[in-house]
Amino acid sequence: VTDGTAKETIPMLLWCPECSKRHVDEHEYARKPHHTHACQHCGHVWRPAIVCTVGVQFLPGFRNDPVLSSREGAS
Ligand SMILES: [Zn+2]
Ligand SMILES: [Zn+2]
Repeated sequence: VTDGTAKETIPMLLWCPECSKRHVDEHEYARKPHHTHACQHCGHVWRPAIVCTVGVQFLPGFRNDPVLSSREGAS
């Protein structure tokens, strides 16, 4: 599902550096790569990378065990 704009888009797990909440881009933002991300919780705006990124819930290929997010070392 590429329309040319997502060429350098990098899916990332993003946390707000101010309030440490997860930043997940949803709906139109999930399809619209952006340099700067605005926290939905505190309004802080930051740029996690020099390229366009999209905040995702899970990285591609790593969405098998979402339940493990609160517990580490369960290999
Ligand atoms: Zn964002
Ligand atoms: Zn925040």
